[in-house]
Amino acid sequence: MSAADSYLLLLLFAAAAGLGWYFARRSQPRSKAAARGHVSADYFQGLNYLLNEEPDKALEVFIRMVDMDADTVDTHFALGALFRRRGETERAIKVHQNLVARPDLPRDAKARALNELAEDYFKAGLFDRAEQVYAQVARGGAHRDLGLRGLVRIYELQRDWDKAIGAMDQLASQAGQAGGETVAHYCCELAQDALGRGDLGAAKHWLKRAQSADPDGVRGAMMRAAVGQREGDHRLAVKLYEQALEQDGGFLADVLPELRRSYAELGKAGEFGRWLAGALSRHPEWRPGVAFAAITDGGFDDPVTRQCIIDFVESNPILTEILETLRPTLEQEGGKDAAVRRISRAMRRIAKASPRYRCNVCGFSGNVLYWQCPSCRTWGATRPVTKFRFEAMLDPRAVPRESGRKT
Ligand SMILES: [Zn+2]
Repeated sequence: MSAADSYLLLLLFAAAAGLGWYFARRSQPRSKAAARGHVSADYFQGLNYLLNEEPDKALEVFIRMVDMDADTVDTHFALGALFRRRGETERAIKVHQNLVARPDLPRDAKARALNELAEDYFKAGLFDRAEQVYAQVARGGAHRDLGLRGLVRIYELQRDWDKAIGAMDQLASQAGQAGGETVAHYCCELAQDALGRGDLGAAKHWLKRAQSADPDGVRGAMMRAAVGQREGDHRLAVKLYEQALEQDGGFLADVLPELRRSYAELGKAGEFGRWLAGALSRHPEWRPGVAFAAITDGGFDDPVTRQCIIDFVESNPILTEILETLRPTLEQEGGKDAAVRRISRAMRRIAKASPRYRCNVCGFSGNVLYWQCPSCRTWGATRPVTKFRFEAMLDPRAVPRESGRKT
């Protein structure tokens, strides 16, 4: 038994003792002894069964208790939670079904019991039943938001984005909060599905909805730019990629190569350098990100980017040392520029051996940009990794390709 379970049992003991005291004070003289004696005896018998790892016998005693007195409800919630946490979902379901079936249960407690029952079904993987019960909770009452949250979780797992939008809209109006960012992600998922089917019209429709749900969303801007590129509208793509970076400069490594490509398609490669110089004067903090994007992409050759790479190399003590060591040899091959190019190639190999993205909530990392983290399910928390992991240079096997661990 885990420490948390032992603690919970202790709480149940405390509840049992409290109930004994409560009945002793409240009950009429004639029934007092009987009530106190009965409650205590049954509780302690049930707890004894639990401690002796005889949960079915314990369950029988506790369910019988529910039939006796509604004041024991909280203790039963604790028992249901204990069973569920131990992975004994069938027993948890029995406890909560029993509570739900009580005709005399107060309204709030009934909604809570329904929500707990839905949680049991969810944990047991019975998503259809969980959905039905969550929908019941979501129809009204004090726990409506819990029911809606449960529905959202199920629809996300089933990738049923239409229904997820409906539930999230209701949740947002219920809680008086904006659910816009999450709804925008759902719309982007629908747009992504449409792009997969080659349905550009539907993709554009969903991207428009994403934009109205979250006008500043970087994902929507990046997707709209990619659709522009796909349709050959590079002027629009340039505008949207630049807008995406103004919204979130953290995506430089993903956006800059595409932006450069669209400028080149327009026959305006020189303008890209001029735009970059202007952007860097507004956002000097982008310089390392620009260097990282250029090094990992390998296709940049404008003077502004080259200077960012030189600054990046010279600001890093390890790289500066390598540069100094190689200088005599490299100077014969073409000076500092040649040396920086050689170092860039080596760093590109390092970057390829490291995960490209990392969730800033749970640390899950990998080479695919998941807008919803597959580990902690948070939306928009996965960010591009823009630091080189030099240990990869020493031992590439030491760097996980995909990992749920914090790094
Ligand atoms: Zn995560």
